[in-house]
Amino acid sequence: MPNASSLTSALQEQLNKIHQQINQYNHQYYVLDQPSVPDAEYDRLMRELITIEQTHPQLKTLDSPSQKVGGQPLKSFTQVAHQLPMLSLDNVFSRDEWQAFVKRLQDRLVTQSDIVICAEPKLDGLAVSLRYEEGILVQAATRGDGSTGENITTNIRTIKSIPLKLIGQSGVDYPDIIEVRGEVFMPKASFDKLNEQAKNKGEKSFANPRNAAAGSLRQLDSKITAKRNLAFYAYGLGYVSDLYVENGEIIDQAFLKSSHFQRLCQVKALGLPMCPEVRLLENPQQVEEFYQEILNKRDALSYEIDGTVLKVDNITQQEKLGFVARAPRWAIAYKFPAQEELTVVEDVEFQVGRTGAITPVARLKPVFVGGVTVSNATLHNQDEIVRLGLKIGDSVVIRRAGDVIPQIVSVVLDKRGDDAKDIVFPSSCPVCDSKVAKAEGEAVLRCTAGLFCQAQRKEAIKHFSSRKAHDVDGLGDKLVEQLVDENLITTPADLFKLTEIDISTMDRMGKKSAINLITALESAKETTLAKFIYGLGIREVGEATAANLANHYFTLSAIQAASFEDLQTVSDVGEVVAKNIVNFFKESHNVEVVSALDEIMNWPDIIEKSADKLPLAEQTFVLTGTLTQMGRSEAKAALQSFGAKVSGSVSAKTHFLVAGEKSGSKLTKAQDLGVTILTEDDLVALLEKHN
Ligand code: NAD
Repeated sequence: MPNASSLTSALQEQLNKIHQQINQYNHQYYVLDQPSVPDAEYDRLMRELITIEQTHPQLKTLDSPSQKVGGQPLKSFTQVAHQLPMLSLDNVFSRDEWQAFVKRLQDRLVTQSDIVICAEPKLDGLAVSLRYEEGILVQAATRGDGSTGENITTNIRTIKSIPLKLIGQSGVDYPDIIEVRGEVFMPKASFDKLNEQAKNKGEKSFANPRNAAAGSLRQLDSKITAKRNLAFYAYGLGYVSDLYVENGEIIDQAFLKSSHFQRLCQVKALGLPMCPEVRLLENPQQVEEFYQEILNKRDALSYEIDGTVLKVDNITQQEKLGFVARAPRWAIAYKFPAQEELTVVEDVEFQVGRTGAITPVARLKPVFVGGVTVSNATLHNQDEIVRLGLKIGDSVVIRRAGDVIPQIVSVVLDKRGDDAKDIVFPSSCPVCDSKVAKAEGEAVLRCTAGLFCQAQRKEAIKHFSSRKAHDVDGLGDKLVEQLVDENLITTPADLFKLTEIDISTMDRMGKKSAINLITALESAKETTLAKFIYGLGIREVGEATAANLANHYFTLSAIQAASFEDLQTVSDVGEVVAKNIVNFFKESHNVEVVSALDEIMNWPDIIEKSADKLPLAEQTFVLTGTLTQMGRSEAKAALQSFGAKVSGSVSAKTHFLVAGEKSGSKLTKAQDLGVTILTEDDLVALLEKHN
């Protein structure tokens, strides 16, 4: 059995390793603004450290990362010593932990009464302190290590929402010296734009808006900061001088209200922005509701948040509770479940899509992130793999935010093992073994076999029968796959040859569902030329382009015969789409399928011979809000099939605005401009009239 001293030295060694690892993560995060692991991984390590220190207090040292705030300030900036320290926050991750925190508050305050809570979103940016002397912004500093920060005054002055001068009169409306603390952050839209620009220039992108905000604020050239569109919300006060005069008398800190919430409102009245989501809650029980409300709003907010911050509102109670080494005892960050996690790429497989595109898909060690368990992530194409520098066996950061599909954000190189394997792209199609090729200027590798490839067959048939094409009820993806695997169908035209017996022998298909499917196929034969073109699945020919082609050429044969140059005279058709159309009709197997379908399917002739004679020609529509009876793209395609133009924005040239549910600024603008407003019912009636 190991003795006590060997146990302690093993623990000591484990602690040293954790210290070293956290210090490295801190340096990457706070100094370089380039974290290598997700916050969830960092938080786990920090918790492990705190747990060991709690159970073995003798091992807790002053230089432990659990006792420190942030990172060292950058030497390239002059340093600012904070008159009052800028601390961090402790955090909780569950209702139980939150309730335990409340219990500790009550014990320390020796009270069973409700504690009023100021509840705020936890903004994902970086903390700054703004010092106003006689109402003028004289100094701005980052938090740095909590006692010394970086002087970033020039850069802060470029942030439009931070006033250079406070509203009111110094010594009357506010004290001579007042330090406002808050978060500088980068709105999501600016972050996306910045990373898009970096990608286009081949530069390194930022991992998240927090790092982008920190990197933008800690620039030696303030012109760069000015271009980054940073924003600020105040959430507290630092040092406040006592030279405050009221009715001619010097009053000791009379400016300071006894409620944190009221202090924020006061700061707002001086012209500093305060987050509109901040609420005063009468008791800690209301916190769960607030937390849920903000979590639900998270994706819709224009800035990134990663939880809520809950503060004891009463300043006397705050003072009684005091601080520990790196955080106040009167506040806590109640964090949201992580949107980024660490996992391992166990393998990479290749999928073949409808147009033959070969997409690498990472098979992941299942990981719970963004509220679901994720085990696959698309890698898009070879360029993406090169950009990530990914190998099989790598530890990766996976991100799943809102409804967005999971993405591999980065590779954690420090964790790469010796057995990591290069990802080799297949030299032939992984499904049909045919040749693969990459078109000039394209990142995507494609199987060249077209409908001879089993995978492309399946996808082409699924697309043909999808809702926006021929909407074949009862023909699900699994059934298509089975019918192709059983060699009962190879093209969409074969669908119409299926017999009741063919269908009823498939898995989970009985006589009744077979009859229903045959009936559905029968009614799918009646279609429109636009739907027929869309259903062919020509690359980049969506519903709107298909409708434009039908309205321009009127017959299938005219579209088939159109030249590359002529196709470009059609609205929305550029060089790429024109080339795709010409190439599609050049392939003999496509022509065979098209003519077989042409024999089977019917669509009404388009009688008007000139686009300008279509009933809605020269009428511009804008669609806004949610349409409940049809999708927006369906409505757009239908309007275009009658010759209408459908634009994305309202202007003086707009004739009609179709306002669905929850219409916003476009509706207001249209009303201001006197544009005719149609409801969804009006639209349906209009389409029926011309049908
Ligand atoms: P923190 O971000 O957890 O909490 C403190 C900070 O929250 C404050 O300094 C302030 O900037 C901010 N904040 C946002 N809204 C606020 C509000 N309404 N009121 C008060 N403060 C508000 O603490 P920290 O010390 O800045 O950073 C620690 C966290 O950073 C870790 O929990 C981890 O998530 C992350 N981190 C990650 C890595 C990594 O490698 N991924 C490394 C270091 C730190």
